[in-house]
Amino acid sequence: MSDKPLGGGQVVYLPEGASRVLGRDAQRMNIAVAIAVASAVKTTLGPKGMDKMLVSELGDIIITNDGATILDEMNVEHPVAKIMVDIAKTQDKEVGDGTTTVVIMAGELLKGAGDLIEQGIHPTTIIRGYKMAADKATHILSEVGRKVNISDNDTLEKIALVSMGSKNVGDDATKAHLGKLVISAVKQVMEKDASGKSVIDHDFVKIEKKAGGGIADTSLISGVLVDKEIAHPGMPKSVKNAKIALLDVALEIEKTETEAKIEITSPEQMQAFLQQEERMLKEMVDKIKKSGATALFTQKGIDDVAQHYLAKAGIIAIRRVKKSDVEKLARATSARIVTSLDDLSSKDLGDAGLIEERKISGERMVFVERCKNPKSVTIFIRGGNQQVIDEVERSITDVIGAVSSVMIDGSYVIGGGSVEIDLANGLRSYSQDVGGREQLAIQKFADAVEVVPKTLAESAGMDAIDTLVQLRSKHKGKEGGVFGVDILKNTIGDMSKHGVFEPLKVKQQAIYSASEAAEIILRIDDMISSRGRTPPGGPGGPGMGGMGHED
Ligand code: ADP
Ligand code: MG
Repeated sequence: MSDKPLGGGQVVYLPEGASRVLGRDAQRMNIAVAIAVASAVKTTLGPKGMDKMLVSELGDIIITNDGATILDEMNVEHPVAKIMVDIAKTQDKEVGDGTTTVVIMAGELLKGAGDLIEQGIHPTTIIRGYKMAADKATHILSEVGRKVNISDNDTLEKIALVSMGSKNVGDDATKAHLGKLVISAVKQVMEKDASGKSVIDHDFVKIEKKAGGGIADTSLISGVLVDKEIAHPGMPKSVKNAKIALLDVALEIEKTETEAKIEITSPEQMQAFLQQEERMLKEMVDKIKKSGATALFTQKGIDDVAQHYLAKAGIIAIRRVKKSDVEKLARATSARIVTSLDDLSSKDLGDAGLIEERKISGERMVFVERCKNPKSVTIFIRGGNQQVIDEVERSITDVIGAVSSVMIDGSYVIGGGSVEIDLANGLRSYSQDVGGREQLAIQKFADAVEVVPKTLAESAGMDAIDTLVQLRSKHKGKEGGVFGVDILKNTIGDMSKHGVFEPLKVKQQAIYSASEAAEIILRIDDMISSRGRTPPGGPGGPGMGGMGHED
């Protein structure tokens, strides 16, 4: 039932087979879809959250607790579901953590909006109220945020642990080990930009993984791990204090592509021709030798003959190295990438304490390590099998995100649902000052934020309503905003004592993206689909594109 004439007075031609949903129906449907998506990831929230096993059409298995990954793998088709997936991705990209939080918050915001719409409140009023609430939330966050110094490893390690909290990546000691690796990695690549602001480019914390060993064997390489072999068996397997040349040059004789034909009429001519080729290759190698290089990495190929001469000169060479790896090597070793051999001089060479080829689970890899002050490092993940190392990679990505956001932003908040209670309390009292219909939206916003402590309590088997009531009143007391859900003791507890700390930026981004997504979805009152399929008419309808959602 539309509450608007078709096309709002305009004539709209729809393609054949297209379907259209209008007004309240569109809103109801979209809200239902958003709630369904949120409920699909809800059970994974927090340390007591459950994992999901996803099986792709090809039969590949992923076991994960990562909100963004789950949604990404679900192949949702409904446009609203896609918006929900996108906010998880944005969260992942912007701050690297809090992906489940943002999705369940958005779901809850829309659920609240749905209630208000049923009560006859117009979506634009709700949107206005939500915007006011989001602004207020930002303000409250900055008030309750605590400062951390980047040399305060203790606090950073706690933040890392919480970020890994819900991931199934080994025992506490292993998690502590991973956290330390990430903190050290992030600190090494952190730099100041032109304006003197600290920046951390996550690309320069390279992640390599190989199944085998245990998660505790995961290590930090102060340099770059290149997943390639040394080109020739006659080359040394390792060099200490290596002088590194980085080339974007082929050590090959270009075979002309024109029709140039070489007339070879006698064996002598053939011989002469080959000798000339060989001489040219030898000259190339001589240039490298002359520069003082003891190792070279090139993006291009290396001819067998050139390999032979390099081996004779005792130079380690690795060919067909990915461009991105060459760039990382440049940052790690301070080498300059050279595009013409004639330009190569000792000034272009980089340094590494050790370059070594090692056999890892049957495959050869080249470790360029012990670099001094490397601006590019590698975390080398190990673990029992592919599923395990994949999940370790996802957690490490989260931790890199979490740790770098606190290091850049300098602030953290108290987790375990604690900061959400501060936000909800603050928003409720703010709503009193605002009054009007927006007040109702702000209250719904407060309820939505509380979905975090509520879900954490549920996952621990506690009574969610009781927990919320207790937490709200504790936070108003003089002990203040440190109480959250103690998921180990199944009670409420002082989260600052347990070191449940989270980056302020992660919460900020979650609130920002969740309310933005809610706004986008609430603004839609006309859904036209040319796909010849009628979008679902209610919760759990078809059109979720094969996602099995649960309640
Ligand atoms: P997200 O994808 O949103 O980061 P997680 O599954 O990582 O979801 O869960 C994060 C939530 O779990 C946060 O609200 C965080 O405060 C909470 N959490 C993490 N560790 C603990 C803990 N030890 N005790 C209580 N809550 C925790
Ligand atoms: Mg997390």
